[in-house]
Amino acid sequence: MANSAVADQLVAETRVEVSEPAVLLERLADHFSEHGDVTKEECKARLAFHFGTAELEIDGGYLNVAATASDASGLAFVKVALAEHLIEFSEPETPEIRWTGDCAAGSPVPYLRRMTVERVEQITPRMRRVRLSGDDLERFTRESMHIRLLFPPEKGGAYGWPVMGEDGRPAWPEGLPKPIARVYTIRRIDADEGWLDIDMVLHEGDGYPGAGFAENAKPGDEIGITGPGGGTYGQATRYLLAGDETALPAIARILEELPETARVTAIVEIADAAEEQVLVSKADVDLTWVHRDGLEPGTTDLLERAVKAVDWPEADPDTYVWIACEQAAVRKLRSYFRKEKKMPRANHMAVAYWRRGVAGEHAGEKDG
Ligand SMILES: Cc1cc2nc3c(=O)[nH]c(=O)nc-3n(C[C@H](O)[C@H](O)[C@H](O)COP(=O)(O)OP(=O)(O)OC[C@H]3O[C@@H](n4cnc5c(N)ncnc54)[C@H](O)[C@@H]3O)c2cc1C
Repeated sequence: MANSAVADQLVAETRVEVSEPAVLLERLADHFSEHGDVTKEECKARLAFHFGTAELEIDGGYLNVAATASDASGLAFVKVALAEHLIEFSEPETPEIRWTGDCAAGSPVPYLRRMTVERVEQITPRMRRVRLSGDDLERFTRESMHIRLLFPPEKGGAYGWPVMGEDGRPAWPEGLPKPIARVYTIRRIDADEGWLDIDMVLHEGDGYPGAGFAENAKPGDEIGITGPGGGTYGQATRYLLAGDETALPAIARILEELPETARVTAIVEIADAAEEQVLVSKADVDLTWVHRDGLEPGTTDLLERAVKAVDWPEADPDTYVWIACEQAAVRKLRSYFRKEKKMPRANHMAVAYWRRGVAGEHAGEKDG
């Protein structure tokens, strides 16, 4: 089997029996082209992510997969991504996946950290900053800014901690509940001092894992995090950053990172003037706050109209558009930039951060 691993890389392999390997390979290549660089030939495909690569090859009724990465977390990410999608795309069959090689079954999940709440700060009436402290955070400083927070299924309760499973997914101890995950943005991080800040929206409703945790968090509380993954953005001279309050931590962070040569139009939808924050940037920033002033989040076209009012060039490769908010608005804006502004995929990112009426970490994902 073709394997491009080099000496200092970690490697894992699996050989999976499937009934329609060509269909499966096609679906995997198509799906992962949204998340990395995919090279597809008739019987094989190479998936290159920023955290590692996977080489897939059809061998009769089998799909051979070789995963490589330069560190354990990267390899574990490749394994779990492949396992989850091999299983999802093979339904109703359940293929048996057994990896051999590095990051073996039973070893610690390398992208998971146990963290402790160090302090909680109310930064605006509806936004709380939770500082989490923990060890070995260096990889959380790199590129990606999104993480999963793992909340106890019951307020104040405990959950089990997983190890690497045979199929590459985490294996959870029996007898203890699994945590509930929600995706958040690392607003700020200092790996040397061992902390990271998460800015969490206190949205309406009781007992939701994310907002409820933010409401009740106190120093000493324990919580798990996994990641990081996603949240990178392209290089350009001119940027459009748009989102609602859930995207405000990411927009604030991107603004802090952009160089002074960047020209940025930033549009942020928030509940009202009390939610405005001071945003810092070296770049030349034109910032607009859009206030809902009593209207419910996820129900208005305020952000959409504000974004469409920007005089934005068509298909200009030196521009980058970044959008994150409720799913319905994301869909409209994504379509606007793809179809009307003819922006290539490499020059924009439009991601649903949540979906009105739908709970859960995947609520925003299946949005075509
Ligand atoms: C990549 C990514 C990064 C994110 N970063 C951040 C971040 O840094 N800070 C942050 O606060 N959020 C962030 N979010 C959004 C956050 O994950 C969702 O808002 C999540 O649903 C909150 O979980 P929950 O347990 O509070 O509510 P859930 O249990 O998921 O949902 C319960 C109900 O609340 C509704 N709901 C969820 N979020 C909101 C909201 N903001 N306003 C109104 N109603 C809502 C849902 O529609 C549902 O009806 C991010 C999401 C993604 C995908």
